[in-house]
Amino acid sequence: MIIDIPKNSDFSIHNLPFGIFSTPERNKRAGIAVGEHILDLAAVHDLGVFDFDEKVVRRRDLNDFIALGKAVTTKVRTDVQKWLQDDHSVLADKPKLFVKQSEAQMHMPVCVGDYTDFYSSMEHATNVGKMFRDPENALLPNWKHIPVGYHGRASSIVVSGHPIHRPKGQTLPKEATQPIFGPTQRLDFELEMGFVVGKNTQMGQSISTSEAEDAIFGLVLFNDWSARDIQKWEYVPLGPFLAKNFASSISPWIITLEALEPFRTNGPQQVPEVLPYLQYEGPKNYDIHLEVGITPNGGTENTVCHSNFKHMYWNMAQQLAHHTVNGCNVHVGDMMASGTISGKGENSYGSMLELAWMGTKPITLSDGTQRKFIHDGDTVTLRAHAEKDDIRIGFGEVSTKVLPAR
Ligand code: CA
Repeated sequence: MIIDIPKNSDFSIHNLPFGIFSTPERNKRAGIAVGEHILDLAAVHDLGVFDFDEKVVRRRDLNDFIALGKAVTTKVRTDVQKWLQDDHSVLADKPKLFVKQSEAQMHMPVCVGDYTDFYSSMEHATNVGKMFRDPENALLPNWKHIPVGYHGRASSIVVSGHPIHRPKGQTLPKEATQPIFGPTQRLDFELEMGFVVGKNTQMGQSISTSEAEDAIFGLVLFNDWSARDIQKWEYVPLGPFLAKNFASSISPWIITLEALEPFRTNGPQQVPEVLPYLQYEGPKNYDIHLEVGITPNGGTENTVCHSNFKHMYWNMAQQLAHHTVNGCNVHVGDMMASGTISGKGENSYGSMLELAWMGTKPITLSDGTQRKFIHDGDTVTLRAHAEKDDIRIGFGEVSTKVLPAR
């Protein structure tokens, strides 16, 4: 091995995800995470081993690199995988090709043109339906026929480490008749995965479920910050608006679909049968363990949720097929998030809204303090990894500190 990779590293030889990094000496550029290091793709390009324009690995985002297509980007990944394991390869004896992750700053991996958020976990949609609407008929009649979603806000997607301020807005206090304005009292996280679109389409063109995976470059962890009191007052009839668009946080490394291949699994059976354009063949879910930690200001982390991406009722291929079936065009770098990923058990719910059941079951942290929602000074961290046989890959983390309202 050219460089040491610690056992149980998220960034094993099987992973090799892409990101954008910088150091005091190196301006923003593309890299591949390898163990505790980053392989500088601009420096590798200087060796003359790639036959694409070097500019695409020296840009501030990966969009142009991804736009080269999977034939090129997959080959970069598999070539690097081969070279890293060959002590006589082109990467040998060139320590300047590598940077320690601890000495690098990570940036947004892509320029996100458009962001869409789905609502594809049946457990989450059922829990929210019970709390916000009708405990007896929690799922709305369309839910099992349509991968429900809404168009979110791309401008406020930030990378791990970027703090956010508590948002302000209108809410209708309990038993009040008039709304008030002020900082949200119910700031929440949502545990989601986001996929990055890897292809451009033209208006009028659709992507079928069988074509969808070729149009997905890879996945990141996605925290869809939510202000529940603002949401409750504003969401009828057109859905979330200011309760969601103030911030979303993503992890910096894009895990390719190819790296996730060993972790494919069958999704839940869909009953009733979906319309033909949403039908698909083969396993299209992925077995990825997820967890969420809350760290109070100056305190230690408390894991509050364990979930799994395999629980999703609607898969990514169905989401992309549905998104484009009307001819809506998509672009390289577009981000599509899964919706909150909740499991069946009470400790597998992917939001505070569900974990503390709308404030009725507060969570006690190790320092003795309680949480119904997220407090100022708290840091929320999402993590993910997949493991099978001797193969382990991880997503790293998306970690975000909440600052007081401005
Ligand atoms: Ca969401």
